[in-house]
Amino acid sequence: MNTLGQNSNSGQRVLILSGPSGSGKTTIVNRLINDAPVKLMKSVSATTREPRPQEADGEDYYFLTDEDFRSRLSENEFLEFAEVFSSGFLYGTLRSEVERAWTENAWAFLEIDVEGALNVMQQYPDAVTIFLKTPSAEEFERRLRSRGTENEEVIRKRLATAASELQSADRYRHIVVNDQLERAIGEICEILKSEETASNA
Ligand code: 5GP
Repeated sequence: MNTLGQNSNSGQRVLILSGPSGSGKTTIVNRLINDAPVKLMKSVSATTREPRPQEADGEDYYFLTDEDFRSRLSENEFLEFAEVFSSGFLYGTLRSEVERAWTENAWAFLEIDVEGALNVMQQYPDAVTIFLKTPSAEEFERRLRSRGTENEEVIRKRLATAASELQSADRYRHIVVNDQLERAIGEICEILKSEETASNA
């Protein structure tokens, strides 16, 4: 049964991709939809933020008013939600999106922030979770210090941000460094292949 209240995921596969902005998430998501060795269906999130130019309702997001979002929340329509970047804007994954993927025998593919991901991991411990890092994260401190242009306070703030990102990364099953686009996509495809094989074993 595809009831989201149940946590056994026989055939109900969830893939979560998170990572800081600038990690190349969007490009990778779009490539994976077409090229992944398993059938992925992107979950279209709901948000209360305004659409950007080029963004289409129902494709990039479901753009909801704050009132509509909160009324759907009270109807338990969301699998998870978060206020992203303390922006005041709400983002959430609709249960209907995940069910739509499963009905199509596809993996539900969620590109969501860390808070939302941790929430989904609790409900679906078998979710395949990937944290995408920029290669510059490893080199961050060395570069910052070798440049010698930032004062110590700025360096400390930046290192703290990088550290908290790294802490979150440890909660994910896989960490992929987007050093080269094709290599990173290849690595994610290998992860999906082996996860699919493991789940069918
Ligand atoms: P943007 O406003 O730039 O499209 O997205 C900002 C952030 O919101 C991204 O880091 C993205 O991962 C996150 N996000 C998008 N959809 C969801 C969602 O449904 N739930 C959660 N928790 N975060 C989301």
